[in-house]
Parts: sequence; structure tokens; C-alpha cells
Amino acid sequence: MRRPFIAGNWKMHGSRTENAELIEGLLLGMPAEASVEVAVCPPFVYLWEAARLLKSSSIALGAQSTCAEAVGAFTGEVSAAMLKDVGCQYVIVGHSERRALYKEDDALVARKFLAARAQDLTPILCVGETLEEREQGLTDQVVSRQLNAVLDVAGVAAMGTAVIAYEPVWAIGTGKNATPQQAQEVHAHIRAEVGARDANIAAGVRILYGGSVKAANAREIFSMPDVDGGLIGGASLAADEFLKICAAAP
Ligand code: PEP
Repeated sequence: MRRPFIAGNWKMHGSRTENAELIEGLLLGMPAEASVEVAVCPPFVYLWEAARLLKSSSIALGAQSTCAEAVGAFTGEVSAAMLKDVGCQYVIVGHSERRALYKEDDALVARKFLAARAQDLTPILCVGETLEEREQGLTDQVVSRQLNAVLDVAGVAAMGTAVIAYEPVWAIGTGKNATPQQAQEVHAHIRAEVGARDANIAAGVRILYGGSVKAANAREIFSMPDVDGGLIGGASLAADEFLKICAAAP
């Protein structure tokens, strides 16, 4: 009942030439009737061209962030309406790199989530603990805090048209993925946290795992009952590898 979903976060990688090659590879290799839903999230500046290249394919387009404001004097920012205008369907909010490097706090992430929904974009809300927090036994507490900051302002119904990504910070770009059991434990906790507000929404919301997923470990992680796919960073930059990860989705 939850359609598996794999999203590629290209981060600040690529060029017009490299993107065209990557998208061509994905389009050639993606089965026409794939049961998995797939999206790619290129940098802002390449979204429009990616939308053109992906047109009429089954691969959706997402952005890596959005401004929380709708319009105005916000130099360097990109609004959710602009993302919608160039063909995005998804937008990542609260990625740990945005939280850590650009000091995006829970309140700002919640405002970005609302800004995305106001434009009918599907937010991919990232939550996850640092290594220090895990070692202190704070994983559930941190993830709950990040999740509830959004649920409190957006309401649980908003999760009916959103995606959650559990991304332990210590697993992102490190080559050290969470074990399937570690991922399952936190995914179950996230689903229960949403379920405390609305059981139906909790049963339907897709929760992706992100953090050093590659073709070699994807199937095992995706086989866990509360893992509905993945948010893939580094391994989404090579068509063959990303296609293998998509094929590993349940
Ligand atoms: C990410 O940045 O969302 C991510 C999961 O990165 P990686 O797959 O490279 O760990």
C-alpha cells in the first residue's frame, strides 16, 4: 500500500553535460513499468533543463531546498512557487547539511515545509541524529523533536502528502550506513510518533532511509518493514548504481 520511493540528492554536483549523460543513462535503464517511484534532485540552476530532459518520463523532479518566504527581497533564495514553475514535484527540507552548515533550525525547517505544501510540492522532510546524540542514547528524542516541530505547525494531516527521510548524520557521505535493524528501529519510532496523532496517516506515510546507501546494501535495508525506500546521495550520481538501487526497492 506504500509505493516504494527512491530519490537521488545530487547535492552540489554536476554540470549541464554530466547531468544530460546521467539523465540519459537513467532513462535508458529505467523499466517502463517500474513499481518504484523515482525522483532526482539536481542543484537549483539545473532544474529547468533537467525538467526538459525528464519530460514525459516516469522520473520526477525535486529540489534540494526552498526558501521559507513566498516572494520578495531575499537575495540568493529560490521560492517554492519558482520550483513548482520549473517542474518540481518534490523538495527536500531539513537536510542535515542545511541544518549543520547553514544553521537551519527546526522552526525554519517547519516554515519551509509549509512553504512547499502551499505550492503543492511534496516535502521530503529529513530528520536524523548525530553520532554524539546516538552515543548518548538520544536518537529517538532528537528525531521526535525534529518531527514534532513540523507536526505542531503543519498538523498531522500534512504528513498525508509528505515523505519523511530518516538520515542519521553519521551515515551521510561516510560510507558507514546504519544497519537494517538500526534503520528499522528509528523508522518504527517515527511511524509511531506520527501514529500517536493519526494512525491512518502513520500507516500511509512513506519513510525513506538515507545514509551511504549503495547497490550492495540497498536490498537488505529496503527489506525492513518500515523502510519505504531511500534518499540517495553519492550513489545517485552514477546511473548504473542508482538504477541498481531502484531495482532493489521492494
Ligand atoms: C544524503 O545526502 O541525503 C545522503 C543520503 O548522502 P549519501 O547517500 O552520500 O550518504
